Amino acid sequence: MKRDYYEVLGVSKTASAGEIKSAYRKLALKYHPDKNQGNKEAEEKFKGINEAYEVLSDVQKKQQYDTFGHDAGGGMPSGGNPFGGQGSYTQYSGDFSNVGDIFGDIFGDIFSGGSSRSKSKASQRRGEDLRYDAEVSYLDAMKGTEISIDIPKKETCSVCHGTGSKDGSAAKQCPKCKGKGQVRYSQGFFSFSQECPQCKGNGTIINNPCLECGGGGTVNKRKPIKVRVPAGVDEGTSLKIAGSGNAGSNGSLSGDLYVIVHMKQTAGFKRNGDDLYTEISISFPQAAMGIEYEVPVIENHVKVKIPPSTQPGTTLRVREQGFPKLGRKSRGDLYVKINISVPKSMSDVQKRALFEYAKSMGEISKDSKYQSDNFFKKIFG
Ligand SMILES: [Zn+2]
Ligand SMILES: [Zn+2]
Repeated sequence: MKRDYYEVLGVSKTASAGEIKSAYRKLALKYHPDKNQGNKEAEEKFKGINEAYEVLSDVQKKQQYDTFGHDAGGGMPSGGNPFGGQGSYTQYSGDFSNVGDIFGDIFGDIFSGGSSRSKSKASQRRGEDLRYDAEVSYLDAMKGTEISIDIPKKETCSVCHGTGSKDGSAAKQCPKCKGKGQVRYSQGFFSFSQECPQCKGNGTIINNPCLECGGGGTVNKRKPIKVRVPAGVDEGTSLKIAGSGNAGSNGSLSGDLYVIVHMKQTAGFKRNGDDLYTEISISFPQAAMGIEYEVPVIENHVKVKIPPSTQPGTTLRVREQGFPKLGRKSRGDLYVKINISVPKSMSDVQKRALFEYAKSMGEISKDSKYQSDNFFKKIFG
């Protein structure tokens, strides 16, 4: 699992370019190979810091990373088109609620910062991941779009900056759970752990809690988030917006937001993978003699050559006129089913022309069933 770039540099998602730069400088100096000769760990850290900075210092790369996280094509650190590889968008349909705790356990200690803070694993809990189900139209899946997501979520408290403390004093180890965040209960032969009721699993308590957030360091807020939906998304596509989930407790990392795409069908069209299906009705002469037909496709028209003698029900395939393939340059195909329409009414001139045609095909005789029509009464007398 690749680490979040913001986390690598120890800055928040909202950090300015200047803050990112100065955080990078500090870390790069600290872990520079010249200063840490033979130290493998420092070398790895130095590499990671550079990789993170390469992305976060580049406006375009940063934006793509903010939207897709490490899933943005895989090739990001080496530059180039992040969507060039094989689209590595995850189809995540699992339960997101536990993810936060796992990350908190792994990364909590590493990023607890200064020594004044509790070393408890529980004191640094990554925010929960959030899921949002978005309805996307065929047109938007064709062209890509930007949506605004308005969901209630935990934000870092702006009064205490996530520390939870009113006066900036350090959090103390929770006396009930001794900083573990969990307490064990025994019942008969069984013993089980539960979230500590005194510190709510944080492992720390704050003597003088912030009045705004009650000491948790986060507040519930609704703040619209803009999410870029790339062309080619399909039912079930999962877009990861790194750091846009719930804020973590006591100023630790935010969770991620996952936007799950649901397709909204456009009348007259059907999607199957990247291919698009539609039907058109043409007249008998058009089908018989062939025509170049402008087929309506979602928002525009595609010229389709219908060859002479096209039979009703024929399906024509038009290459590369379907949906864009997610993360690739190619597209799916368009399939056009040809129906033959019959006019609802005809003028006498048209009837005569058709009559002549039918006669040439040997279909009309004097005693045929057309006789009830006034036009044929005139002809046959
Ligand atoms: Zn607060
Ligand atoms: Zn506790």
